[in-house]
Amino acid sequence: ESVINRIAAGEIIQRPSNALKELIENSLDAGATAITIAVKDGGLKLLQIQDNGHGIRTEDLAIVCERHTTSKLKVYEDLSTIQTYGFRGEALASISHVSHLTITTKHADSECAYKARYSDGNLVQPKPGGSSNPEPCAGNNGTIITAEDLFYNISSRKSALKNARNEYNSIFEVASRYAIHNSGVAFTCRKMDAVKADLNTQQGASVVTNIRQVFGFNAAECLVKVEHKDAGTGASFTGLVSSAAHVMHKPVFLLFINHRLVDNSQIKQAVETLYSSVMPKGSRPFVYLDLRIKPENVDVNVHPTKREVRFLHEDTIIGSIVTAIHKEVASTNS
Ligand code: ADP
Ligand code: MG
Repeated sequence: ESVINRIAAGEIIQRPSNALKELIENSLDAGATAITIAVKDGGLKLLQIQDNGHGIRTEDLAIVCERHTTSKLKVYEDLSTIQTYGFRGEALASISHVSHLTITTKHADSECAYKARYSDGNLVQPKPGGSSNPEPCAGNNGTIITAEDLFYNISSRKSALKNARNEYNSIFEVASRYAIHNSGVAFTCRKMDAVKADLNTQQGASVVTNIRQVFGFNAAECLVKVEHKDAGTGASFTGLVSSAAHVMHKPVFLLFINHRLVDNSQIKQAVETLYSSVMPKGSRPFVYLDLRIKPENVDVNVHPTKREVRFLHEDTIIGSIVTAIHKEVASTNS
């Protein structure tokens, strides 16, 4: 049974950045305003995320890594309107099947923090005479999740992912995109032994400031705002897009639908087509889009490894996006 679980878990978590995306979303669900990520060997040796969210109740620690354990779904009807990121209760379970997972957490109702170690969905049995599991410890309100030796028990995956730099780049991409979008949350991401963090956004900083932090260009000068509300479909969006004076060398798309980082190749294609027709030859779009769609019209709770989503009224909504961008880009060009 544990082999089957491990294979299933390895499909859900294919590389460290898949795990990180799930862990960031859990921290955001927990109401965190500060999220700190530490990485060793591209996340393969260690991937740690600390948040100051509401923490996990002590009595829930025994079960949080069991499959389908979620605190986010009360009744079936919630499925269509659910506002949090997670609801399947599969992320922690999967990570615990393919790594050595430790959770240190302190809930506001608890007097002290607890540290719990997991293996294959369950708490590790304490050794006779050894310390208890969970074990009381000192700690601030919030949660630290530490996944060590990711894929230690899937040797084929381990050898396929031997380029730690690629894995770190993918981790940094996920972390920095969530950082840009979530201006209410301070994000830090660092390699474990590095003196300086690679990502360091402040709580309350604007999206423009965060883009500058991450991409190194002055977003206030280089990008123009777009926004639109579609009465018919109920969809709305705000965004920041590159204008003709500031061309990019490669296309960059940061697409959030209902606050979840996703991909949609139809949007990308439509926007690239627009840029190639109205912008100087060779210019590529930089597009940050914060798109809100009625929850029942989109399923953003996709598989961790599949970012591509489809939604209802796609043509209409993409039409409004292209029109809005065209209007802004055209007016800055004239
Ligand atoms: P889901 O997010 O789909 O509910 P997960 O496996 O990602 O499933 O998490 C299981 C449960 O563990 C969550 O429902 C939540 O109650 C708890 N949890 C996980 N991460 C955190 C966190 N950082 N802070 C507080 N609670 C958490
Ligand atoms: Mg989750």
